[in-house]
Amino acid sequence: MSALSLENEAGFKALFQYATVGILVISSGGRIELSNPCVEKLFGYEKAELTGRLVEILIPEVFRENHVNYREGYFKRPKARPMGYGLNLFARKKDGSQFPVEISLGHYRLFDENLAVAFITDITERQRFNDELESKVKERTLELTRSLEREKELNDMKSRFVAMASHEFRTPLSAILSSLTLAESYDKAEQQDKRQRHIGRIRASVKNLTIILDEFLSLDKVEQGKVEIEKEAFDLYDFAEDIIEEVGGMLKPGQQIRFKYDGIRYINEDKKILRNILLNLLSNAIKYSADQQTVYLDIDARTNARKVIIKVRDEGIGIPPEEQNNLFSKFYRAKNATNIQGTGLGLTIVKQYVELLKGHISFISEPNRGTTFMVEFSLNQVYENDLTDRRQ
Ligand code: ADP
Repeated sequence: MSALSLENEAGFKALFQYATVGILVISSGGRIELSNPCVEKLFGYEKAELTGRLVEILIPEVFRENHVNYREGYFKRPKARPMGYGLNLFARKKDGSQFPVEISLGHYRLFDENLAVAFITDITERQRFNDELESKVKERTLELTRSLEREKELNDMKSRFVAMASHEFRTPLSAILSSLTLAESYDKAEQQDKRQRHIGRIRASVKNLTIILDEFLSLDKVEQGKVEIEKEAFDLYDFAEDIIEEVGGMLKPGQQIRFKYDGIRYINEDKKILRNILLNLLSNAIKYSADQQTVYLDIDARTNARKVIIKVRDEGIGIPPEEQNNLFSKFYRAKNATNIQGTGLGLTIVKQYVELLKGHISFISEPNRGTTFMVEFSLNQVYENDLTDRRQ
């Protein structure tokens, strides 16, 4: 027989001594009869401190009482099985700290005595691994949810784009086509007036298409980070007046723009970007208001606030509360605006431009009462000296 055979006492002893699971033999009264070195190592006790003690010293205080009942029950109907199946079991070390365990129970009779044997495995590492795995799964699930949301957003955007394009491209294109056909049919010299009217319609439609294309291009440019800030000193008051004049052509019968200005006039800012922001907000205010309604432009460039605050207010159709969250999304158009021309790109561009100025945009709106957009950015004041320097 080999020296390593289990068929002799030395072999069994070695198995008991060197096992990497803790082995405890318990009497029917719950006392520890035998423990192997692994138990000593796991729990931090000397062998002599364990032998003869109630097994409950190895169990956290809160579970001890239950364990006494459990153990007595086990000895009445002993059978080999895992302990606390489906439960998270914890053991208690000598220093009071706890660790997760897995326990298998067996039983046998020796010299008329009923004995239970417990095999104890420390599963701290396994649990840590499980926890890590679980948090990885959570992380991945979150990533997946996010990319699904992004995909959904992209899909929504695509549908909004298609809805916009089919309307905004088709309308001017069919106007061009019908005006061309009509202009062609007026072939007499005295029909010049009629031809001219249709040429005017064609020009307006082409202009509309150009505006849409320009909006696309400027959004693409700003999204790709290709727009660079170029600050220059200018008179903000004069600048606003010019823009008011520029949008004057869009005013409907009886509409007017009321302009109020407070504070210093010369600032250092990117004119092109600011122009785009103002043009967009003012043309929206005009577009989404009816005849006779007033649009208000308030600019506050007072030095004490160190901010420029621009407010564009109208008395128009307003924005339904449930749609207000989406307004800055690409191609988004509120339901009450669908019969008014638009691409749903203007505000997306405005927001990006305001961010380029390191500013902030917000709005308040009430359906059928009107809307106020507010843009804020820091006031870069230009002093007289700077200005004369620049003018030289
Ligand atoms: P567009 O005007 O071309 O549709 P915008 O991006 O400028 O695109 O605006 C997005 C949507 O926000 C508009 O379709 C409209 O529903 C709403 N909106 C913007 N400005 C106003 C306003 N002043 N009053 C009411 N609704 C507005």
